[in-house]
Amino acid sequence: MPEMSEETREELSPAFRAVSPQPALSSTPDVELRLDLAFPRLSEEMLERLRSYGQEETVPKDTCLYMYGDRDTDMFVVLTGEIESRVPVKGGGSKRFRSFRAGEFTGELNVLNTQRSVAEARTASTSRLLRVSRLSLRTLMRAEGDLANIIVSACIWRRIAMTSDPSTGVVLRGCEGDPDLLSLRRFLVRNYYPHRIEELPTNDEPGNGLAATKMPEVELLDGRVLVRPAICDLADELGITEVPEPHTIYDVAVVGAGPAGLAAAVYSASEGLSTIVIEGNAPGGQAGTSSKIENYLGFPTGISGAQLASRGHLQALKFGVRFAISREVVSTAQVDGLHRLRLAGDLTVCARSVVIASGARYRRLNVKNHEDFENRGFYYAATAMESLLCREREIIVVGGGNSAGQASIFLSGVARHVHHIIRASSLENSMSRYLISRIERSPRITLHTDTEITGLEGKAALEFVTWTNRKTGASVRKPIASVFVMIGAEPNSGWAYGTAKLDHKGFVLTGGDWGFEATPYATSVPGVYAVGDVRAESVKRVASAVGEGSVVISNIHRYLAQRRLDFPEQVKAN
Ligand SMILES: Cc1cc2nc3c(=O)[nH]c(=O)nc-3n(C[C@H](O)[C@H](O)[C@H](O)COP(=O)(O)OP(=O)(O)OC[C@H]3O[C@@H](n4cnc5c(N)ncnc54)[C@H](O)[C@@H]3O)c2cc1C
Repeated sequence: MPEMSEETREELSPAFRAVSPQPALSSTPDVELRLDLAFPRLSEEMLERLRSYGQEETVPKDTCLYMYGDRDTDMFVVLTGEIESRVPVKGGGSKRFRSFRAGEFTGELNVLNTQRSVAEARTASTSRLLRVSRLSLRTLMRAEGDLANIIVSACIWRRIAMTSDPSTGVVLRGCEGDPDLLSLRRFLVRNYYPHRIEELPTNDEPGNGLAATKMPEVELLDGRVLVRPAICDLADELGITEVPEPHTIYDVAVVGAGPAGLAAAVYSASEGLSTIVIEGNAPGGQAGTSSKIENYLGFPTGISGAQLASRGHLQALKFGVRFAISREVVSTAQVDGLHRLRLAGDLTVCARSVVIASGARYRRLNVKNHEDFENRGFYYAATAMESLLCREREIIVVGGGNSAGQASIFLSGVARHVHHIIRASSLENSMSRYLISRIERSPRITLHTDTEITGLEGKAALEFVTWTNRKTGASVRKPIASVFVMIGAEPNSGWAYGTAKLDHKGFVLTGGDWGFEATPYATSVPGVYAVGDVRAESVKRVASAVGEGSVVISNIHRYLAQRRLDFPEQVKAN
């Protein structure tokens, strides 16, 4: 088994040894850094096995192996000598992250994806190294389970170490409670990007008005400042965007990296199909916004959506799935038997088959001025991040389903009181029994049945909410600044409009009379399948999304095998 050397403990800066203040690969608070997993030393037997995947090289002292910002970096295993890995720090310099000696290997999350490297590496002495190319690493990941697990786990813990260190990473600066700050932060957290937050007092503070108009801003490590960046511009600047190769024909293109898409990708790649996942924002989908999923098999104490998403994403990376992150699919067409997906930013992905797993988005509340308060008092997720806005305040949760129930229970742990508002007369037909019991028993939650929100007031943000009992007509107006709306979802299927047949609500029709073949997930277009929440008639749950994503791959195998000879070998120019 790999072991952690004494030097490892001594070499790590105190920041790395501390409990992580801002865990990266999930948004759960306070993770104790596992140095033994971050910096394992491989046994002789493991090194021997690794040799067949790499090329031995003697490299002179002070040779740069990869730079900060490089993509597609190889992994280096030290046979003799030493490699120093450095991370950039604020103000333009860099500092040592770690020295790798005999039996240790370089790399962190970037060796698994194609995002830009957040560290650099150079030899600290003349060294004998084993260079494992990315292609070989992918082969190794499939063939050598124990080594793969050690490498993946080291990659995760190293990234956690980097995100825990306040001297590296970009600075996200903005006004406390600003929705734009929240959305940039959510993007960085869900993409595990090293960053730290500097919150300024709210806009209302005297003299703060001018500064606030430029917020939020992102200060890059070279000192440049991006003022109010769009998510895709920030993704491009930081190298989080993963650009698909225009000439590659993938066996499977999965649209959406929620539970359904991630499951499809893991099964597809682990069974040898070349697979790309295109995700408009960050992996996790709706599940990624859930504070705790308690009904997913195998997690008796529940798991946060962010953790589940993070694990699924890493599992997919381990099997060599390519990701195109932060670019939405905007349209699709079939040309010469291939599916051409057009992505935002005029990028194209070609694939022999497509899995539509683009899920759903939250339904908006029917109150006339609700748009004024979108993300300025109205929220559609209830994670640890949103809970910061509720501390010691009265808040409202709207909705009769499980997601609303979970939100109430979770937020009642931080808020002074939760008013849970539903239009129906009871929760019985819409929420799981275990959640209903907890809501009934909680002294910090009041359930208002037969009730709807009828008034919203506020200047820059929500300040007062009025609700009205539909039976009695009695209204209550309260000073409330946060409303969590969880009233169902609408399908993300606009991009597929005009191709696969949709039902009257926009969900993708599959199987039965609609499918191009007699399988439950086949759409009306040959080679295109739909799974998860975007599919008409699907059960809108994590487990069913994961199940459908896993099962659909066997249909795709059959489809590809039957038509293998029909597909062109090259992508034709437009
Ligand atoms: C707050 C909350 C709590 C929940 N709690 C539970 C629970 O406890 N248990 C349970 O079983 N279920 C729960 N659910 C429901 C569960 O999360 C969903 O059923 C599940 O996430 C559906 O998975 P999916 O992959 O089909 O779609 P989604 O999770 O919606 O993922 C779709 C993905 O596709 C991406 N996408 C959309 N359009 C495009 C495009 N054009 N191009 C590229 N990417 C695109 C989106 O960004 C998203 O990441 C909860 C839902 C919410 C909102």
